[in-house]
Amino acid sequence: MLFVVISMHIWDKSYSLIAWLALVAFYLIYPHVQYWRSVSSSDPLRTEMSNLVFDALLVGVSIAALQFPLWISFAATLGVLTDNTANKGMRGIWESILAFVLGASTWVVLFGFKLSMETDIYTTLFCIVGLTGYLLAVSNIGFARNVQLRTTREKLKSREQELLDSNQTLIKHLAEISELQHQLHEQANRDPLTGLYNRRYLDSTLERELSRCMREGQPLTLLMMDIDYFKHVNDLYGHQAGDEMLVRLGKMLTGLARAGDVACRYGGEEFLLFMPSMALEAGQSRAEQLRKDFAEMQVEFGEFCLQTTLSIGVAVYPGHGTSGDELIRAADAALYQAKHTGRDRVVVMAGQ
Ligand code: GH3
Ligand code: MG
Ligand code: MG
Repeated sequence: MLFVVISMHIWDKSYSLIAWLALVAFYLIYPHVQYWRSVSSSDPLRTEMSNLVFDALLVGVSIAALQFPLWISFAATLGVLTDNTANKGMRGIWESILAFVLGASTWVVLFGFKLSMETDIYTTLFCIVGLTGYLLAVSNIGFARNVQLRTTREKLKSREQELLDSNQTLIKHLAEISELQHQLHEQANRDPLTGLYNRRYLDSTLERELSRCMREGQPLTLLMMDIDYFKHVNDLYGHQAGDEMLVRLGKMLTGLARAGDVACRYGGEEFLLFMPSMALEAGQSRAEQLRKDFAEMQVEFGEFCLQTTLSIGVAVYPGHGTSGDELIRAADAALYQAKHTGRDRVVVMAGQ
C-alpha cells in the first residue's frame, strides 16, 4: 500500500530517479531481505521483532525525505505503530516511535528540514482507502486469533477432562490390582477350609517372630494340637462332619489368639498356635483353657451332635529350643506324649 501511495506522490511531485530507486529498494527489495533474515535466523521470532523496529526507522527516513506529506506520514506511521503494538504491546509503541524519530531526524540532520504536507486528491484517497483496508485486515487477524485461541482452549479443556477420566480409571484399576494382590497373598497364606494361616505362612513368620523375641529378651510359647479319635468322627458321621469340626476348632483358635499370635492349620487335623511374648505358665494355662473349651464343644451336624477331645503339646522358647524347628519338634514330642498318656490333656516336654 505504501509503495503505491508513495509512487503516486513521487510521480505527482516529479522526484528524481534516485527517489524511485530508493522507493524500490526500501519498499520492494528490503522486505524480502528482512524475510530472508528472519527465516534463516536461529531465533526467527526475535529477528522479526527487530525487523519491525527497523521498519519504523525506514518509515521515519522516507517520510522526512518526502518532506512530511500529511496523509502519507499519517498512514505510514500508523501502520508501523500498529505492527509493532500488535506484536509487542506497549514496548512496541515506544520502540517504534523512537525508531521513527531517529530515522526522520537523521535525514533532517543530514539533508535539512523541508516541509511539504500536501498530497494530491488521488494520493490522499488512496491513503484513506489503503489505511482502512489495512486496519480491517489487522482486525480480521485479531478475530481469527481469538477464534483459534477459543478453539484451542476448548480442545485443551476436553483433553484435560479425558486425562482426568483416564486417571480415574487408572486409580480404579490400581485399587483392583492391589485388592487382587491382597487376595492372592491371602489365598497363598490361608487354609481354605478353616481360614487359618497355612504352613507356608508359619514357615515365614515363626523364625522372624522368634528372632524378635530373642532381641527383646521375650519368651515365645508354641502349642501343637491334634484332635483325638478324629478318624472315628469321619468314619461315624462322614468327612463333611469332620470338616465342620475342623472349622469350629479354627474359630476357637482365632477367638483365643491375641494380636500378634499366629494360629495355623499344620496338617490334616493338627493345628499350631504360637504366642510371642508369652511365658510357659501363661501359655500352659491357655492350652488348658483351649483343651477344656474343645472338650465341651458340641458340633451340631444334621441330626448329630459331635463331641471329642484335643491333645496339646507345649514348647517354649528359650527352654525347649532356640529355633522354630526345635520348638516344633519339642511340641510334637509333647503331643506324642499326650496321646500316649491317655489323650485329652496338655503336656509340656521335660527339659524346661
Ligand atoms: P489320634 O487320637 O491318635 O489322633 O487318632 P485320630 O483318629 O485322630 O488319628 P489321626 O490323627 O492319625 O487321624 C487323622 C485323620 O484326619 C485321618 C484323616 O482322614 C483325617 N483328615 C485329615 N484331613 C482331613 C480333612 O481335611 N477333613 C476331614 N474330615 N478329615 C481329615
Ligand atoms: Mg493326626
Ligand atoms: Mg488325631
